[in-house]
Amino acid sequence: MSAGTNSGIDYHPAEMPAAGELATLAEGVHWLRMPLPFALDHINLWILDEDDGCTLVDCGLATAETREAWEAVFRDPAFKGPVQRVISTHFHPDHVGLAGWLCARWGVPLYMTHAEWLTGRMISLDTSPDFAPRQIEFYRDAGCGADFLSAVEARGNAYAARISPIPNAFRRLRDGDTLRIGGRAWQVIVGHGHAPEHATLYCAALDMLISGDQILPRISPNVGVWANEPEAEPLSDFLGSLERFKALPADTLILPSHDRPFHGLHARLDNLAAHHDARLADLLAALDRPKTAMEAAPALFRRKLDHHQTGFAVGETLAHLHLLRARGQITRTRDAEGPYRYLRTA
Ligand SMILES: [Zn+2]
Repeated sequence: MSAGTNSGIDYHPAEMPAAGELATLAEGVHWLRMPLPFALDHINLWILDEDDGCTLVDCGLATAETREAWEAVFRDPAFKGPVQRVISTHFHPDHVGLAGWLCARWGVPLYMTHAEWLTGRMISLDTSPDFAPRQIEFYRDAGCGADFLSAVEARGNAYAARISPIPNAFRRLRDGDTLRIGGRAWQVIVGHGHAPEHATLYCAALDMLISGDQILPRISPNVGVWANEPEAEPLSDFLGSLERFKALPADTLILPSHDRPFHGLHARLDNLAAHHDARLADLLAALDRPKTAMEAAPALFRRKLDHHQTGFAVGETLAHLHLLRARGQITRTRDAEGPYRYLRTA
């Protein structure tokens, strides 16, 4: 994820909840934050009250610290148990991490879109011997150095380590579905580009959108190419989804997974589109001689990156390279088994 302008948005005045505490945004709609051990150090989760309990939206990373914070939430007087269902917006570990644990603890089903459930289950269960070789080939093709490649090999399947086992059965969310939660209708709107089939939830009665990572106020959601789909071009999908969300009212309160709830949806959608346009132009300008994805990445990411961030930066650079290539603005070549190099055509 990278920085973007957030002009034109107004943060909601609600006070930020401490870990394990609830902040109430509207009757029956609660905001909580869980810690993350990354530069991005928190995730926002949501609890929607029902007549006979509540629905959880997103789960937090599978760590002892997050489990303890959940137990504190369950003891909070504002928590209206029991949990009736768990919704996960997408398969990323900070969102689905504790879904298995939460579903087992309360004996309730997990709701996800098909592609998100499949992707999470598939990656979390991948113990095949060709897992690391696929990752290494992908990052070698991108021009990453030996240091990073050995870190990739040593880390193995990092995804599986960050989640509790995803339930082996689920209930499917589809684009356009309506869920009745606490007497209100919440419509599922699917977005693309950040994850394969990211669910967001819109309540017209409250004029609120639980946007997950699809729309964030300050950082631009990561749009990346990953080893399991090395020729993917997710940026067009992401930009297309921005257009779809423009159909929502301009004064919709956005409940994002990181940072704080905000107003200013349309300005933010425009900012995100402009951000990617500017990054595409920067990248194109940098390709005045053939460069690997790793060599081109500083055009988008100027700060020094650790290994965790390098994977995201390479993936995001490839997403922009693949769109430029689809538009015919750059070419891709390689010699023998060397990395791919990209060069602008004019
Ligand atoms: Zn995500």
